[in-house]
Amino acid sequence: MLAKATHAAMTEARKGVGPLIPPLTESQRPLRQQVFELIRAAGLIPRVQLAKDLGVSPASVTTISSELIEAGLIEEIAVPRGGEAGRGRPAVSLGVKAGAHLVAGMKLSDREHTAVIVDFAGKLIADEAIPRRPGPMQLGELLDTIEALLDRVCAKAQIARSDLSGVGIGIPGFVDCADGVALWSSVLVERAVPVAEAASARLGIPVQVDNDANLVALAELWFGAGRSLSDFAVVTIEHGVGMGFVMNHRIYRGAQRLGMELGHTKVHLDGALCRCGQRGCLEAYVADYALAREATTALNWGHKESQPINVLLESLYDHAKAGNATARSIFRRAGRYLAVGLSNVVNLFDPALIILSGERMRYDYLYAAETLAEMDNLTINTGRPRPPIEIHAWGDLLWAHGAAALALSAVTEAILANQPRDLAAE
Ligand SMILES: [Zn+2]
Repeated sequence: MLAKATHAAMTEARKGVGPLIPPLTESQRPLRQQVFELIRAAGLIPRVQLAKDLGVSPASVTTISSELIEAGLIEEIAVPRGGEAGRGRPAVSLGVKAGAHLVAGMKLSDREHTAVIVDFAGKLIADEAIPRRPGPMQLGELLDTIEALLDRVCAKAQIARSDLSGVGIGIPGFVDCADGVALWSSVLVERAVPVAEAASARLGIPVQVDNDANLVALAELWFGAGRSLSDFAVVTIEHGVGMGFVMNHRIYRGAQRLGMELGHTKVHLDGALCRCGQRGCLEAYVADYALAREATTALNWGHKESQPINVLLESLYDHAKAGNATARSIFRRAGRYLAVGLSNVVNLFDPALIILSGERMRYDYLYAAETLAEMDNLTINTGRPRPPIEIHAWGDLLWAHGAAALALSAVTEAILANQPRDLAAE
């Protein structure tokens, strides 16, 4: 009887336990990809150091680096030795071959479109910006805009469109990056638009699309303060409120790639109406249109459709600065709601750093001492300090840079995945 039960239990146990992780996940990349990414991150690095940092044999680094050199992705660069050894031969380091590929990154927004071109080592080659009319567009018009902007930035970089290996595009709204579909965006009339596929067909170049806030987080991860951090948040305040979250050095997207919509987390039951159609979203208290709504009501200002919202907000800000109590209360209230949103981020994720970014960072009430004090009150008291808040008002070029990083990642992964033969060398 006992033996039978044990046998049953053993059969049961053979189903296995523990997480079912595919052999190669995002964090377990092929050694060749790890070698390439470390070279790119280091700028210049000797082979010996590569082997040491990756914890692999110098022989396997030599094999892989030879293949990467042969594939034209990296190159050997002689670095003069310093000190005693200065008289000897120069040391040889490995670096990314900057001219191997060029990519473009774009930010399409409600106000203006920006684009950059960067080389394979991530260096900026050219940038361009074009204004746009407000309001959502049909896909055809969006594609016309993308094409026109791309041709202008290519002309500035003195390259042909066909010289590009990839294009990354950031748009506001709910975007499924893996499928390249904009499920809803303030720049598009239709829902569920296959932007990446349509743009790729129009341009004749592979296109990646992502939520714009994710791209600011990607820009910080690639070029900014987030390079050395494993977990941090970027909160963007522009026409809407967005968030990009980096978890374990990667952008966290969620199971359906639709997570991190901080702007649509609820801060008030049955509260103010949001652009998304629901009530009480953080965005409905902090974003441009929330401030504009209060300004037109409280200050008795007529807001004409033709009048840019920026003009109205500038006027509101000037009044607040000049001491107008109502104008000040509007900003202060928005700051307090932002404090609720940020403390929720801290309580949920415990990030090492929160970066506030976006056009609205010009309005200092958003990170005034009283806003941060409010945030401290709402953050659970663990006896440890809350994460630092940094303000990075870098402008739209940063966002476009993030889009370029998205394109670089896609290009790199496609190339490295196409040469599986040295996987055996691992
Ligand atoms: Zn909403």
